[in-house]
Amino acid sequence: MKYISTRGQAPALSFEDAVLTGLASDGGLYVPENLPQFSKDTIAGWAGLSYDALAFEVIKPFVAGALTDEELRTIIQKAYSSFRHQAIAPLVQTGHNEWILELFQGPTLAFKDFALQFLGHLLDHILARRKQKVVVMGATSGDTGSAAIEGCSRCENIDIFILHPHNRVSEVQRRQMTTVLSDNVYNIALEGNFDDCQNMVKASFADQSFLPDGRQLVAVNSINWARIMAQIVYYFYAAVALGAPHRAVSFSVPTGNFGDIFAGYLARKMGLPVEQLIVATNANDILHRCISANDHSKKPLIHSLSPSMDIMVSSNFERLLFDLYGRDGKAIAELMASFKSGSMTLSESALQKAREVFSSYRLDDETMTKVIAGVYDTTGYLLDPHTAIGVEAARKCRANVSTPMVCLATAHPAKFPKAVAKAGVTDTPALPHHMADLFDREERYQVLANDLAGVHQYISGQLS
Ligand SMILES: *Cc1c(COP(=O)(O)O)cnc(C)c1O
Repeated sequence: MKYISTRGQAPALSFEDAVLTGLASDGGLYVPENLPQFSKDTIAGWAGLSYDALAFEVIKPFVAGALTDEELRTIIQKAYSSFRHQAIAPLVQTGHNEWILELFQGPTLAFKDFALQFLGHLLDHILARRKQKVVVMGATSGDTGSAAIEGCSRCENIDIFILHPHNRVSEVQRRQMTTVLSDNVYNIALEGNFDDCQNMVKASFADQSFLPDGRQLVAVNSINWARIMAQIVYYFYAAVALGAPHRAVSFSVPTGNFGDIFAGYLARKMGLPVEQLIVATNANDILHRCISANDHSKKPLIHSLSPSMDIMVSSNFERLLFDLYGRDGKAIAELMASFKSGSMTLSESALQKAREVFSSYRLDDETMTKVIAGVYDTTGYLLDPHTAIGVEAARKCRANVSTPMVCLATAHPAKFPKAVAKAGVTDTPALPHHMADLFDREERYQVLANDLAGVHQYISGQLS
């Protein structure tokens, strides 16, 4: 399978190169040239498959020519053996035909583990074959860093450097990163804010001459195609468990960079009967404004109680636009150029196509905490703040109560005790058993000044 850029100007790449490259040279994002199609009979035949077995069926066509069946099976098995629930992605019922898909059973208690556990083992496999070593570098304000570190911590061919703003991430989030003591994991606490961290990473990708010979940087942020691909699986898994393909299912997705919900859109295009996809946003609502009012304009960032969705612009939205514009790379390059002004307007036909499947809703912190309290009160089930936004959006946007509504639970409530306390829930959510000693574990991190040369000197010093 070949991968092409959404802006039409970069060369098509193999799966392997697309995964190692990240952003295309024309500024676009890589997408598969053709989407695999699964017939109704094929999907019906997946009833009862284990998560690993289903992941194999869904991912296989995307990696054709790059991985053998045996290699793919091994990578999947390694990736999901770190999840502590046997079902990997269990479903819990919270209302009439309303289900929570628990995507927080992985090592860092957020759905990002689905993609990053897979990506870590995939990269390690590709690199071993190429006899190549790379450096993963990233900036984090919370969840992504810990999931990336866990995903790469056992990889022999990867050194990983994650920058977080010193004293500006929560203690749970910091400890989830800094207590991973593998020799290839380096946590940098930068004396600056998240933007400083991100700028430092961007500058490092632009000029990699500080790295020792033969090393290159690899990005594991959500524009990496392999992350989207791994996320398609749980849409099939949940839908088949609830009766697909014989009946349609809807999904509500707490959305930030649009990676997660885009995977749901792809599942639908591949043959899964999906009736509605609900884009649930917090006060950073660019996608809600775009879908409901064709207003895709940048606004200042608001810091909310659902910090993993605090983004100004959703990078993966471009992948959807590419489809909505009939896969016309030139049109997307023009549209994205127009967005440099801070806003862009979708064509009527693109907007109409989006609305055939997407609905959207926005929730502020106050309403979100009421939802946590209300669901806890009626069912005893404790939602994390991101999931609560998804649940309320589903209830508000639902077109058809006889269609099962699956709300993606993107994080475990124990990661966000502040929001839970604000909701007035007095039982503090306990960390799961395997993390109960998190606050007693040894930490390792390096505090560095906000100075590019100093950071580069530190990184090259660790690598030689
Ligand atoms: C990353 C994240 C999201 C947003 O996912 P996108 O793929 O960026 O839309 C939502 N909830 C949690 C808990 C996250 O960590």
